Amino acid sequence: MSEFQFNYSLLSYNTFGVSVRASAFVLANNVADLRRVLMKTTLPVIILGGGSNILLTKDLNALVIKNNILGKSIVEETDDYAIIEAGAGENWHELVLWSIGKGLGGLENLSLIPGLVGAAPIQNIGAYGIELKDVFVKLEAVGLATGKTVTFKKEDCQFAYRDSIFKRNLKGKYCITKVYLRLSKNPKINIAYGAIQSTLKQMGVKNPSPRDVSNAVITIRSSKLPDPAILNNSGSFFKNPEIDRTTFEELRKQFPDVVFYESPNDRIKIPAGWLIEQCGWKGKRVGNVGCHTEQALVLVNYGGASGQELLSHAQNVANSVKEKFGIELTPEVNVY
Ligand SMILES: Cc1cc2nc3c(=O)[nH]c(=O)nc-3n(C[C@H](O)[C@H](O)[C@H](O)COP(=O)(O)OP(=O)(O)OC[C@H]3O[C@@H](n4cnc5c(N)ncnc54)[C@H](O)[C@@H]3O)c2cc1C
Repeated sequence: MSEFQFNYSLLSYNTFGVSVRASAFVLANNVADLRRVLMKTTLPVIILGGGSNILLTKDLNALVIKNNILGKSIVEETDDYAIIEAGAGENWHELVLWSIGKGLGGLENLSLIPGLVGAAPIQNIGAYGIELKDVFVKLEAVGLATGKTVTFKKEDCQFAYRDSIFKRNLKGKYCITKVYLRLSKNPKINIAYGAIQSTLKQMGVKNPSPRDVSNAVITIRSSKLPDPAILNNSGSFFKNPEIDRTTFEELRKQFPDVVFYESPNDRIKIPAGWLIEQCGWKGKRVGNVGCHTEQALVLVNYGGASGQELLSHAQNVANSVKEKFGIELTPEVNVY
């Protein structure tokens, strides 16, 4: 366990690059560390991963525990699959590359998503037609109030689109310490997304391996999404809203060129980026904040913005979408 640090700056711990302080901060390198820290503190606790899905709007009167629980290995293997375990403090993208290096498929579409392994189940990370839940087996987590380790199987996590029980009923109640994933030795490649197909074509690849798909995803993401190391952001700020079919048909009468995708249970998903763009926010800068020039859904901090400025920009964007389309946008990013 590292030493407690007090009145600690979180500037370099969130990809929005917001300058706030935490009353106390500590690194947890293993589960024993974590338990000792939890026993010692009377402050509310916030678990921090890579800080790529949070918006900090004020100083935190809390103990921020930065998860640094490392380790990754194959724990079970057959001719068809392997189950891997990974410490919550492992870098997600490095785990993807490691698994591909072991000849395992399943994570390639999730290449280059920022952040740490422990946060992946929180919002059931997803990209290019794959979600964490597709390979997820179970996780171990320590109760912040009890210090006890609990195992959550896939069905316990209630995974949904950018959502899980850890964003709802169990929000802020557990620190995820280890994640188990089932990966395939005979991977079924998912290249349903046109952008992956065309990138593979440009790469001259005919029978793509997981590594080829990973390389294609890296190429696409690097060209489309701002790198937080260069331009502070937290990825997609809002979830893509889902509406019922009747509401959708009404909307389509008014906006015949509305972009949409069919979702399960007769729901229709509308890309939040399209809605935001139609309201004229794409590439628009207001003071130190704005909506990215290529991806309207990505809110950016051009430098020195406060969390409040970013939040108020997000609210203005959501209000104008509500006004124009009658659709409520909800943040994907965790706001503190
Ligand atoms: C450029 C960019 C692109 C992105 N693209 C995608 C994408 O394609 N798909 C996608 O799904 N997401 C995407 N994201 C969002 C983000 O990368 C993911 O949500 C990621 O899983 C966040 O990981 P993190 O470690 O940074 O979490 P943090 O931001 O540190 O934490 C996020 C939340 O999880 C909680 N948390 C973190 N670790 C733990 C733990 N061990 N136990 C309990 N709670 C924990 C935190 O308290 C917080 O509420 C993107 C972000 C950026 C900046």
